Formats: sequence, C-alpha cells, structure tokens
Amino acid sequence: MIYLNGRFMPIEEAMVPVLDRGFIFGDGVYEVIPAYSRLPFRLAEHLRRLQNSLDAIGLKNPYSDAEWTKLIAQLIAQNAGEDQYLYLHITRGVAKRDHAFPKVVTPTVFMMSSPLPSPPPELKASGVTAITTQDNRWLRCDIKSISLLPNVLLRQQAVEAGTMEALLLRDGFLTEGAASNIFVVSQGVLLAPPKNNLMLPGITYDLVLELAAADGIPTRVGPVAEATVRAADELWLTSSTREVLPITLLDGQPVGGGQPGPLFKRMDALYQDYKATVMRQPD
Ligand code: PMP
Repeated sequence: MIYLNGRFMPIEEAMVPVLDRGFIFGDGVYEVIPAYSRLPFRLAEHLRRLQNSLDAIGLKNPYSDAEWTKLIAQLIAQNAGEDQYLYLHITRGVAKRDHAFPKVVTPTVFMMSSPLPSPPPELKASGVTAITTQDNRWLRCDIKSISLLPNVLLRQQAVEAGTMEALLLRDGFLTEGAASNIFVVSQGVLLAPPKNNLMLPGITYDLVLELAAADGIPTRVGPVAEATVRAADELWLTSSTREVLPITLLDGQPVGGGQPGPLFKRMDALYQDYKATVMRQPD
C-alpha cells in the first residue's frame, strides 16, 4: 500500500498527471527513512532534513511533523515486514509547463514502503568495492532533490566497473559517495568531510560521529584530500539503508590490509547496539 495525496491505495492504482513538475522538471525533494521493528529510526532528524530541503526549494511543507508521524505510522502498519524503508516524495505539483513557480498549485505527496533487509553479513565480513570518479554534480548537493540524474550516472559508472559505489572527488577532495557518505580512517583517527553544500548531510553520518564521540574514537571533521583517501587504513560508506559498510577495494587497490579494519568492527558493534536500544525504547 502506498500513500498519494491524502489516500492510501495499492501501488497499481496510484497515478500522477504527466504535467506534474516532478515528472517534467524533477522539481521536488525526497527522504528515505528506515523503520526497524515497525518503528521509524531517527524520525525527528529525517523530518528536519526534509524541512531543510523544502525550505531550500521554496516549497511549503504540506504537513506538520505530527501529521507526518501519523501518516508514516499508518504506512508502516499497512505494509508487511518488521523492517521497512519509507520513501517520501514531494513535488511542487501539477501545472502548465513553465520553469517559474506556478502562482497557485497543490504539492504532490507520495509515500511508499519497501522491505529493508539487513546488510548481508558477507558484505560486512569481506567489505565492498568502489571506484573514484570526479564529482560533476551541482553546488547544492545538500538538498535531497529528486533530480538525481548526476547521481544515477555516477552510480552507473561504479556498476559498469563491477563495483558497488563511486567515491566522488571535487577539486582534489572527497565529497561523498554517489548514494552514501564516506568516512576515512587514517592513523587511528576517523576523518569525515565537512557538512556543506557539496554533500548531503547524512542522518547515518551524524549518528556515526555521535557514536564515535561517545565511545572516545578520535574524529576530525574537515576537508579530506584525495591522497589521504588513497592511503587510508580503512574506508567506510554509510547510508540509512546500508548502515555502515567497509570498502576494502578502491580502484582495484586494497584499502589498508584489504580486510574490514578494527575501527569498522567497533563502529558496527556500536551501531547495532544503538539500533537495539532505540527499538526497545521508542522516542
Ligand atoms: N549522500 C547521498 C548522495 C545519498 O544519496 C545518501 C543516501 N540516500 C547519503 C549521502 C546518506 O544519507 P543517509 O545516511 O541519510 O541515508
């Protein structure tokens, strides 16, 4: 069951007019929220980022946080699976084709749920592969825009190279992955690119930094040079659906010892403990 403009319905019945500005211009924003044991994870943080994305494109939030929370609970209840991921999508709505904002228009609101499998243990045990490529996206990567063509093309490069993710470099510095944030472990310190207009402020990124601080892992948030990435002891990718995964092969070269490193194992344990705690005590 999906949600579209005020109604729950089977996905096969859901229709959007062809003049929707999401379809015509990619004029909209989205969110992806994991739910574990049917409880949305870090919901307040996801709704805050959604508000920031809406503000950045000058679109009024169609619902209050309380309304979103209720609709999300209903969506979870109407779908199978204890662990689900929720996709929220808001466009500026249906209007005659003209780039400028229409004067009067009702936003289109769509939500769907998909099963959320845990990352396969073998990925955590052996790590995943990645390539590096130039970050050729626009300068507002902090907006969770539905206009994802640049990310689609970058991710396709990774797939065609037989790897799982593309690490993006801009002007000699790491920004993020095509669909993830990237952490670098160098000489015992966890390095992370700073949150700015060149990357999406990941909800998992924030959580990893919080968990690291609470556990006394030294961290440094600041520009990460390409040479530091290539000489890393460990590389991790993070996202709401993939959690934290070690990257063990970059551009065909082993990362550190070519195996998931000790700091990854420590962070994965912290992450799984945190998930378990939150599921016992929903906030
Ligand atoms: N950067 C990009 C470009 C992404 O698409 C994603 C995940 N959708 C992330 C970072 C990770 O964000 P989050 O931890 O909130 O899933």
